[in-house]
Amino acid sequence: MRLFTCALLLLLAGCASGPRIDRSHVSVNQDNRIQFVVLHYTNASQERSLELLTHGEVSSHYLIGDNPPTIYQLVDESRRAWHAGESEWQGRTWLNSSSIGIEIVNPGYQQTPNGRIWYPYSEEQIKALVVLLKDIVKRNNIEPRNIIGHSDIAPSRKLDPGPLFPWKRLADEGLGIWPNANSVARQQARFEVNPPSAAWYQQQLSRLGYTIPQTGEFDVTTRHVLAAFQMHFRPERFDGQPDAQSAAILQVLNTTK
Ligand SMILES: [Zn+2]
Repeated sequence: MRLFTCALLLLLAGCASGPRIDRSHVSVNQDNRIQFVVLHYTNASQERSLELLTHGEVSSHYLIGDNPPTIYQLVDESRRAWHAGESEWQGRTWLNSSSIGIEIVNPGYQQTPNGRIWYPYSEEQIKALVVLLKDIVKRNNIEPRNIIGHSDIAPSRKLDPGPLFPWKRLADEGLGIWPNANSVARQQARFEVNPPSAAWYQQQLSRLGYTIPQTGEFDVTTRHVLAAFQMHFRPERFDGQPDAQSAAILQVLNTTK
């Protein structure tokens, strides 16, 4: 009887510790779960933004306030925040799973009889963003071309972070991509003589990361995607109309990968 009890105890002890996990074989085939950083404006005051992002139906990992520009962390980076919605970049869908979301307090735009008036970001907000982004990119090994805006990954639905977002300044800090101005000028002269087709635009936009149907026509979706591209890389005019400068920027970005 005593022996039996011992055997039972040993068995139970074995069960409690479970099978041994051998961690000595580490695969080289892996990467970081976080591949993208998605930037947004909140379209609301700081107080309202904090409320919405903590107790509304959406969230982001970080919120950059406006007065003073405090950086709030609302969701741990290891967890999903709900900021991207239906979205796609480089063939990856529903980017909440694979991105870090940063919201910046900014009202977006105001509709006036003369068109939209956009609100600028403050210098302090951008300085705070650069510090935050550098840290995120370094820790998660994120490629510059994967620092993107909400409008890039949902071009038919979203306009944020808007045409006043300083993408070039970020790219100058290594946080994003920007085309070389001389190369663009050279390509632009070429495209003015030979305007590319809708199919060419669709192929090039897709290559850069945008989701776009390859219809061969300048349909509504294609114009939305082209407008999102222009708002990011040529914000002076983002009407979704093809033009030699847009074509040149696309060409240069895709050949200097
Ligand atoms: Zn957004």
